[in-house]
Amino acid sequence: MDKKKELAIFGGTPIRDSYLPYGQQWIDEEDIHAVVNTLKNDFITTGPAIGQFEKAVAEFVGAKYAVAFSSGTAALHGACYAAGVGKGDEVITSAMTFAATSNSILYMGGSPVFADIDPRAYTISPESIKNLLTKNTKAIITVDFTGQPSEYDAIMSLAEEHNLVVIDDAAHALGANYKGEYIGTIADMTMFSFHPVKHITTGEGGMITTNDEALYKKLVDFRSHGIIRDSSKIKEKNKPWYYEMQSLGFNYRMTDLQASLGVSQMKKLPLFLEKRKSYAKNYTSALEHLKEIVTPYQRFESSSSWHLYIIRLKLNKLNGTREEIYKALQAENIGVNVHYIPVYFQPYYQHLGYKKGLCPHTESLYEEVITLPLFPKMTNRDVEDVIAGVKKVISYYAVE
Ligand SMILES: *Cc1c(COP(=O)(O)O)cnc(C)c1O
Repeated sequence: MDKKKELAIFGGTPIRDSYLPYGQQWIDEEDIHAVVNTLKNDFITTGPAIGQFEKAVAEFVGAKYAVAFSSGTAALHGACYAAGVGKGDEVITSAMTFAATSNSILYMGGSPVFADIDPRAYTISPESIKNLLTKNTKAIITVDFTGQPSEYDAIMSLAEEHNLVVIDDAAHALGANYKGEYIGTIADMTMFSFHPVKHITTGEGGMITTNDEALYKKLVDFRSHGIIRDSSKIKEKNKPWYYEMQSLGFNYRMTDLQASLGVSQMKKLPLFLEKRKSYAKNYTSALEHLKEIVTPYQRFESSSSWHLYIIRLKLNKLNGTREEIYKALQAENIGVNVHYIPVYFQPYYQHLGYKKGLCPHTESLYEEVITLPLFPKMTNRDVEDVIAGVKKVISYYAVE
């Protein structure tokens, strides 16, 4: 039989009959009940579910404070506001992330400065941060890419030395652990996202956790128009209806419908994490011996929450391009993806003057990476299909 025919892309039979997406939410009857119940209550927004959800996340990660937002992006915007980022300020971050990370700096009038990644673990390189520090550096936004914590000992000591605020974009890292501590309190502020592909979902939603009371108060004001109702902080003491807008905030509030879903989802987080970790382990043990790819390197001092499982192609050992291999896997009904296009490759950033070549390790990772499906609702059978699909496609394109 013609070997070319065996791959689904050349007319062969796909590994799977049905398409497996790269990520998907897990919603059960308990979640549905929680939301429906909230619809029957007095408050569908600004009600009690917000505080309950904030408390559930804060307790899980071990933080003193948590502030829910309408999205992870809104939460990052709030964090940049609370950090005092403004015109003329530089904020150092990674380009191996979703555009929202550095967009939040632009929202506040600051300038994103892109540090390169560690070539092995793919998180922001402390050495690269160090080389980019100037007198205008105000903050650092780390990205715990794929769920693996950044190198916080080095980053926090740089921040202390230079008086910088550290914001952790932990959209991938709810439940990740760094030296025995959950991600959520190591940076000054930590952002979580509740988009459906993330660890838990509220449809759209985000949160900042912090141990700093002053930052917490700024985040709360920013979320709701900068309006203050606390009578001790406003001028008119005897008018019960009175409120004051003291800063320019937004309406970035989460609804109670979302927060009640979040409370219900948090109960399943340990199960979700267990599934993600076990599937990632299966991938690694089945694929680490293939000489044409690199499976994710994990630092010994931390434990990933496994939002993404990415393989890196050794293109010199393959007779196909990343595009061909990507398309071949898609044809097998394996919903692979690519994370991420370096942020400054985006036309908007190119117009701002960022040039390709800025972060060589970030750019070469982008050229070689493929994200495999990973989400808790997958079955062991799905995981085996992905492994079989990767082996099938890689062995077809392997040199010799
Ligand atoms: C999902 C994500 C965001 C944005 O979160 P939203 O809730 O979608 O606004 C930011 N950064 C990273 C790394 C993400 O993966």
